[in-house]
Amino acid sequence: MYDRLEEWTEGMEWDWVISRQRVFATPIPAWECADCGHVEIAGAEEVPVDPAGEDPAVDACPECGGDSWTGETDVMDTWMDSSISPMYISGSPDEVFDPVALRPQGHDIIRTWAFYTLLRVAALEETRPWNDVLINGMIFGDDGRKMSKSRGNVVSPAGAVEEYSADAVRQALALGGQPGSDIQFQWKEVTSASRFQTKLWNITKFAAGHVDESTPGVTDPAYRDADEWILSRCARVAEGVAADMEEYRFDSALREVREFVWHDLADDYLELVKGRLYEGRPGERKAAQHALLAALSASLRMLSPFAPFITEEAWNHLPTDGSVHGASWPDPPTTDPEAAARGSVVAEVAAAVRGWKSGEGVPLNADLDRIEVYLEEARPLDTYDLAEAVNGPVYVEEGSPSVEMVPVDVDVEHSELGPAFRDRAGDVVGELEATDPAELQAELETRGHVEFDIGDQSVTVEPEMFDVVEEQRAESGEEVVVLEADEATVLVFE
Ligand SMILES: [Zn+2]
Repeated sequence: MYDRLEEWTEGMEWDWVISRQRVFATPIPAWECADCGHVEIAGAEEVPVDPAGEDPAVDACPECGGDSWTGETDVMDTWMDSSISPMYISGSPDEVFDPVALRPQGHDIIRTWAFYTLLRVAALEETRPWNDVLINGMIFGDDGRKMSKSRGNVVSPAGAVEEYSADAVRQALALGGQPGSDIQFQWKEVTSASRFQTKLWNITKFAAGHVDESTPGVTDPAYRDADEWILSRCARVAEGVAADMEEYRFDSALREVREFVWHDLADDYLELVKGRLYEGRPGERKAAQHALLAALSASLRMLSPFAPFITEEAWNHLPTDGSVHGASWPDPPTTDPEAAARGSVVAEVAAAVRGWKSGEGVPLNADLDRIEVYLEEARPLDTYDLAEAVNGPVYVEEGSPSVEMVPVDVDVEHSELGPAFRDRAGDVVGELEATDPAELQAELETRGHVEFDIGDQSVTVEPEMFDVVEEQRAESGEEVVVLEADEATVLVFE
């Protein structure tokens, strides 16, 4: 950027031609005396004025006394007007000029708007016009090419807003790319933003049903580990998002806060504390309400620049003050790092069990006989919320679980076995199914196939014709499902 500015400055070879021959623009407020050629310039109190249609305020020419004027028909170069925009913003000429914080603009007008503003403000105010300039890319069609009518890839912002909401379109554009780089408009980002907003609204409705005016004022809440975890995550996210915003990295800022809301807050935390919110003892319920409100109100504040309408609406449904857009940047309550780390394990385990239930088509609220959580090192894990979330008692153990694979069944590959044995296939299947799966597996391991006598004939069944189904068994002999979380191994007993 600096090189471009230097190159432009060094390369200037003629004066800035400030007049243009166009129909629409700011008129140059000047008249020429038809008799002596004197040029009369309008005073500040006369403008705006169109000299092509009006005479100057003076009756007669101050030079020769003539009264025949020719109004200027040229108009101002557009950058003559727009190059003073920082001065206009800061209240000039009534206020002393102070450089503005930010100039956001496209990369196609760096040599014009950006550079002419630098020049103009330097000339008039002898200072820089702004502290930062943020250069945006161009928005391309969803085929990645420049929008054009002939390509048929033009996206109407009004149409997209009408269909998916202004907030969804705004999010999609914020996610589109880094400063300076062009953005490919992507409908899938608009639809996923729209889905995210539905999720955010559902979280808000749920939270609004559990918190009340007294929640923000709860003193010394008795946080459980899950609360400590979500608040510590929230604090880290707020730091990361603030750092991104300082760097104008709107894409990564939005991605990070959305990830937090969708996965940590909604999927993990809400599932963990639902039991406590509905049925906890008053102190425990209040702690969950307090942490939930703190995390959600922080999320709304972080999201407000990206989704200003829905966050304001959500904010007004919660016990909060004023407008979300006037609220301060989130500063979640400080947390105990060890409790937060334990809460993180709890969240991981709950997520693993929930993921397994949904993968197996088991209802999320299905009771479990128990789960055993194996940690590398013994830690006092807070199992209260976890037991509620998995719907079963939780036992915490140290070390690795002892689990073995036990052959329990045989799965016949009919497409392989059928053609090989034809009319004897039924008998072969009968033999396979009647044999102890452990024996089948032992024979397969030692000989590479299994053999049966059917009538007076010996048949050989090749390994591709069947599978021995194995199950995981705990030391107790019970069937068990083994799940790996980041910091724990989880045994699920149905
Ligand atoms: Zn004159």
